[in-house]
Formats: sequence, structure tokens, C-alpha cells
Amino acid sequence: MTTAFVVNSGSSSIKWTLLDLVSGQSRGGIVERVTDHAEAMVGILAELGNEHPDVIGHRVVHGGAVFTAATLVTDEVEAAIERLSALAPLHNPANLAGIRAARAAFPGVPNVAVFDTAFHQTLAPEAYTYAIDADVAREHGIRRYGFHGTSYQYVSRVAAELLGRNDAKLIVFHLGNGASVAAIDSGRSVETSMGLTPLEGLVMGTRSGDLDAGVIFHLGRSGSTLDELDTLLNRRSGLLGLSGTGDMRDVQEAAAGGDEPARLALDVYHHRLRHYLGAYLALLGGADAIVFTAGVGENSPVTRAAALAGMQWLGIELDESLNATRSPEARVVSSVGSRVAVLVVPTNEELEIARQSAALI
Ligand code: ADP
Repeated sequence: MTTAFVVNSGSSSIKWTLLDLVSGQSRGGIVERVTDHAEAMVGILAELGNEHPDVIGHRVVHGGAVFTAATLVTDEVEAAIERLSALAPLHNPANLAGIRAARAAFPGVPNVAVFDTAFHQTLAPEAYTYAIDADVAREHGIRRYGFHGTSYQYVSRVAAELLGRNDAKLIVFHLGNGASVAAIDSGRSVETSMGLTPLEGLVMGTRSGDLDAGVIFHLGRSGSTLDELDTLLNRRSGLLGLSGTGDMRDVQEAAAGGDEPARLALDVYHHRLRHYLGAYLALLGGADAIVFTAGVGENSPVTRAAALAGMQWLGIELDESLNATRSPEARVVSSVGSRVAVLVVPTNEELEIARQSAALI
């Protein structure tokens, strides 16, 4: 059992990676402007040439309350993922199209669904329950699910290795275009910032994160349609909405050049990080490490410094020079005297999907 084929099937693209789990070697590609997933998968199959995967791992965004771990795909599992499309109308149908195309293109190879939500199924009811009418919530599956679970699983394992212990309390910031944070105790998720959908929580590239739901009623009564509001909050908000660009590097550059909207965008972004950091320290009863991952978390010393500034009194202290050093390795960036370790851990969702898929068969 050595070769895993990892598929991340979106509505208009399919990203794939072929990983040799023994040698660690991988290669991959992306097919864009996909209109027919089955046809695209046959094209990818041709690119694989003679290499025949032992298992195919699929990223699936929403596993609802049904899937608590990676799951071997059967017709019943396909049907369950389809039912869960109500909770992730943009993602699950595209993920499912990839699964169906792969099952058809690679007959006899086991397919595994790896869910972004599964890792957070350990959340306690008080963490996942929204305080709304309980019957309405039950009928519509409305609760907090959380996302980026595959990344959290990978990163928390690497962090445990770096720390040399499995029982650590971690606060992990996954800061990419989408961004969230999770409080993890002994490898179990106890709280996370995304909710029913990946819209809740931190300020993101184009998503607002937390806001008063009253904003939606207010704009709705002023004439906006639901689709317009969906677009506003998911695609035209966050860094993009505040500063005109959703790319963190561009926002930082503009702010450094004196651009006021970009400065405010960064201030709001950092303020939200600190808000969640404080909340999660309280929920966990302290932390052994704060971990940064994904595009912004791995590469931006400015963001890490702003998130943790002035927290020496909490035992959190960055080492300025370690924080400024660029490296592709998982590493410690806190000062020797910092009671709480600060880590940078590059995430690798493809590898995690490959490992979980291989482990299952
Ligand atoms: P995705 O969520 O799409 O996987 P990534 O994890 O690749 O995204 O993160 C993309 C974000 O990381 C972008 O906002 C990009 O500007 C930011 N980023 C990448 N490198 C840097 C850097 N050196 N400094 C600040 N931000 C960075």
C-alpha cells in the first residue's frame, strides 16, 4: 500500500496530487474550467500514465453531524454527502461530482471521503449550539460544525511532535484566504471559529467573519436579495471589502505605503485574531502553544507579531529574530523565556488526506 491519489474537486476545477506514502514523493496538477467532472477525470487518469493508485482520497467540505472521521465511499455514503449539500450548496455537489468521476474512472480502487468538518465533531453541545429556537435548529441541521479540520489534524500532530507531548493545549490559527482558529486539547477540537458554514469567525480574504445577523435583515429590508447578501458577505467583504484587495501581501504593502483603508483592514483583522486568542485561552484554561499555519500564518511575521503583541503578561513572547526568519520547516518562534510556545507549522492537507485514506484501507 503505497500510492494515494488525492482529489480536491471544486465547482470549476479539480486539483489532484499523487503521493507515494513511503518515499514521500508527490506530483500533481489542476484542471480548470471544468464543466464535466467525468471527462476531466478521464483526462487526469491519462496524465497518471502507468501509475495506479492504491486508494483515492477526496476532500469533502461538509460532513454534517453524520461523519466524524474519514469514510470509505459507498453508494450510501454518496447519498449522505448529497443530502448534506443543503448545508454546503457550492461545495458538496462539486466534491461529489469528483467522487463519482473517480469511482467511474478507477474501477476497483477504494475511494475515501475526508471531511473538513469531521475533526470538530468532538465539540461539546455548549460550543456547537446556536441559541436559536431549538425545533428550527433541529429541523434544519443548524448548529456549528467548523471547517479546516484536515489542516488542524495535520498541524496539531506536527505541533505535538515539536513539543514532544500529545496532551498539549493548542490554539491553532489557520490563516489563508479562508481563515479560522481552533482550540485543541490533547488532539481533540474543543472550539473553532467557523460555524454552520465557513463564513463565521475571523476576518478573511473576501468573507466578513462574525457580524450581527441584524445586518442581513437591515440590508434585506433596504432591498438586497438573499443572493446579493450571500455574495456581499462571502465574496465582497473581509480584507477585500475594507481595502479593495483580498490578498494579505497587497494589503500589507498598501498599509505600509500609508493607505488608510488598508491600515484599517489590518487593524480589524488583527483585532479579531486577538479577540479569539483571549477567548480560547479562557476556554482551554491556558495554552501550551499557539500555532500559526496556512499562507498568512506561515509567511507573515507582521501578522504573528500583531496577534501576540503585548501578551508577555500571559506568558506569550515572540522572539523577534526567529519570527522574522523565513523557513519552510515547522519551527518555534517564541523566545526562550516564553511560557507559551509559539510555533509556525506549514500545513499539508493533501498529505493528511492521503494518510487518512491509506490508514482506512
Ligand atoms: P488558501 O486558503 O486559498 O489555501 P493560502 O493558505 O495559500 O490560501 O493563503 C493565501 C494568503 O496568504 C493570501 O492572502 C496571501 O497574500 C497570503 N500570503 C502568502 N505569503 C505571504 C507573506 N509573505 N506575507 C503575508 N501574506 C502572505
